[in-house]
Amino acid sequence: MSEAVARAVGERFRELYGADPHGVWAAPGRVNLIGEHTDYNDGFVMPFALPHTAVAAVSRRDDGVLRLHSADIGQGVTELRVADLAPGTDTSWTAYPAGVVWALREAGHEITGADVHLASTVPSGAGLSSSAALEVVVALALNDLHDLGLDGRRLARLCQRAENVYVGAPVGIMDQTASACCEAGHALFLDTRDLSQRRIPFDLAAEGMRLLVVDTRVEHSHSAGEYGRRRAGCEKGAALLGVDALRDVPYEELDAALERLGDEEEVRRLVRHVVTEDRRVERVVSLLEAGDLRAIGPVLVEGHVSLRDDFRVSCPELDLVVDTATDAGALGARMTGGGFGGSAIVLAEARDVEAITKAVQEAFAAAGLRAPRVFEAVPSEGARRLTPAV
Ligand code: ADP
Ligand code: MG
Repeated sequence: MSEAVARAVGERFRELYGADPHGVWAAPGRVNLIGEHTDYNDGFVMPFALPHTAVAAVSRRDDGVLRLHSADIGQGVTELRVADLAPGTDTSWTAYPAGVVWALREAGHEITGADVHLASTVPSGAGLSSSAALEVVVALALNDLHDLGLDGRRLARLCQRAENVYVGAPVGIMDQTASACCEAGHALFLDTRDLSQRRIPFDLAAEGMRLLVVDTRVEHSHSAGEYGRRRAGCEKGAALLGVDALRDVPYEELDAALERLGDEEEVRRLVRHVVTEDRRVERVVSLLEAGDLRAIGPVLVEGHVSLRDDFRVSCPELDLVVDTATDAGALGARMTGGGFGGSAIVLAEARDVEAITKAVQEAFAAAGLRAPRVFEAVPSEGARRLTPAV
């Protein structure tokens, strides 16, 4: 696929800017297999990259001008000056790539301008990290064109800073790291405290299994406020327990910790989710490393129940996917991403995929909901240069 895509994006670049791009890069979206709402608690996550990517054709400029264009937004070329970039000044999509330029410059890297045209197959707003794909593809292109020599982890950090400060979205480090560092056929076990990472074999097809992503295509409007509230609740829990982050509460000491929280009911629920979720990530890592892929199914379901009942970030549409899929014979299923809409994942035997997909679609129709988008997620490669090949 990549060659044809790179050519098409490069051709559009030439139409827009009147010359061939210096290169074409790609960065994927991601799904998180397990480890939800743990990243801002210094905990564990385990994403893998999707075959869906943001592809950017980019040329370097040395006159301080930044020109941005997206094939997916009905808007002409936006022209900015790199010296004028400032957080909080841009509420459109261009804040993501401009934020990356800003973050690189803030970190002391001299970015002297660029022409950018991009196109993405990562569904936007579905909890699959179209925003991180956008940031990482631009960061990687600028890294190459300006010979910055930054590795995937460093680029991920700068992209996170762009999204936190320039865009103003309080996201963790998972999405950008997944997009920058994942490998095909593997999930990425990431410790969000020290950013140490391990690639864990996750070759479903070889085992006769499939993983489906079900995008519910709903986004409940209160999600941003609820996210902030969960985050504040976790911080409160850590403070009450006298630890830097909930990551520091050992699973073995969870009961004692909950006791200490007394009648802080909401905080207790949040703490219980985070501590048990970190444990579930470790269990999934052990199972996958032992080659016992099917055994992760029940752990995924446990994770969903914890997000639904303790962390309370699920919604009826996500619960409907999980309940219907498991009733129809899935090995496991859970919501993935921040919640209140977005996507769920379903782990299934290859032979059951058709029946499960049909059951989910029928359940949505019966409930009067818009048809969900269902696709297979093959663990794919992380950000890379497409052309010219290096
Ligand atoms: P998610 O990352 O889960 O898809 P976000 O709200 O974090 O959702 O990011 C979505 C935003 O990213 C969009 O509103 C848009 O501003 C930007 N975006 C995503 N894909 C594209 C694209 N192909 N072109 C331009 N902007 C995009
Ligand atoms: Mg995002």
